[in-house]
Amino acid sequence: MSRIVSKSPEAIIRDDIRALSGYRIADASGMIKLDAMENPYRLPEDVRGQIADAVARAEINRYPESGAPRLKKILREVLGIPGEADVLLGNGSDEIIQLLALATARPGAAMLCLEPTFVMFRLIAAFCGVRYVGVPLGNDFALDAERTVAAIEEHQPPLVFIVYPNNPTGNLFDSAAIDRVIQAAPGLVVLDEAYHAFAGRSYMERLADFPNLVVMRTLSKSGLAGLRLGVLAGNGEWLRHLEKIRLPYNIGVLTQVVAEEALRHRALLDSQAAAIRGERGRLARELASIPGTKPYPSDANFILFRTTTADRTFEGLRERGVLIKNLHGSHPALDDCLRVTVGTPAENDRFLAALRECSA
Ligand code: PMP
Repeated sequence: MSRIVSKSPEAIIRDDIRALSGYRIADASGMIKLDAMENPYRLPEDVRGQIADAVARAEINRYPESGAPRLKKILREVLGIPGEADVLLGNGSDEIIQLLALATARPGAAMLCLEPTFVMFRLIAAFCGVRYVGVPLGNDFALDAERTVAAIEEHQPPLVFIVYPNNPTGNLFDSAAIDRVIQAAPGLVVLDEAYHAFAGRSYMERLADFPNLVVMRTLSKSGLAGLRLGVLAGNGEWLRHLEKIRLPYNIGVLTQVVAEEALRHRALLDSQAAAIRGERGRLARELASIPGTKPYPSDANFILFRTTTADRTFEGLRERGVLIKNLHGSHPALDDCLRVTVGTPAENDRFLAALRECSA
């Protein structure tokens, strides 16, 4: 009898993991999907044909090339990775966050983030056994350098994440404040530039200025979310240790082949990003014109906005077939906040019309 009990999940699965609620992904079937910062544009038919041909030639009977040399070469060019920096690939940047957490998870070690931010940092810290420290952002979600440096001194985190521009607030932080944080940190500082395609500012060219800086990117927001490809650029002295815990075949044959083909059409991806930036401006102006709606400035492909009652607005939009993200209740600074991803002009119009109806 006691043997059977010991085989139960309660006895076997770690208490902290049983207590986790996991990352919730909303059901978007049949909806206008503006909840997850995806690029709304597909690749043109002829490019999809070229990708299909490349997939047909791929040797899926073989394990993938572990170091993905061809793909890395293209990524270096497309992402402007300096020649001296090394490159590590993840199955999405989520996986890179996990590698960084695992590699620094000494007993008592902290991961420090600026809140509100991407919720996966907290979740990954929890299941990697890392202490999570969230330092509040200041007014208008600006980086509060004093408070952040004080928290760094108190917690001595081996790992600090700065999201640039930040999710879900959409803003770029002041670079002098970021520099102070990088200098004050006792360990690695990761600039998470997931939304770089819409921001135009980057720490990539500053890698050589700071020995403890690494820069993370993802292809997810640039039209390739389904592939799952994250990129970490930085000094090989750091990356070579992370390589040891990266599972050897984390980037599959098909991901490598499709990313290589898609990135040959860099100009196309750039023009999609430009269209999204243009629509972002229009969406922000229209949001500001709706009574009771306050959009925050954004350098990303989404806009955070505050309403009078986020729960009601969120439900009203959902009833009208539009899915966005409700952030109410996720962090005290996000009371009555919603986040909408910039879609195609037609999707944005549908969203705005639905929002006007529920705000009336
Ligand atoms: N970092 C930030 C700030 C994000 O918002 C996201 C996705 N929402 C990610 C990382 C993860 O992206 P992916 O795993 O798709 O590369």
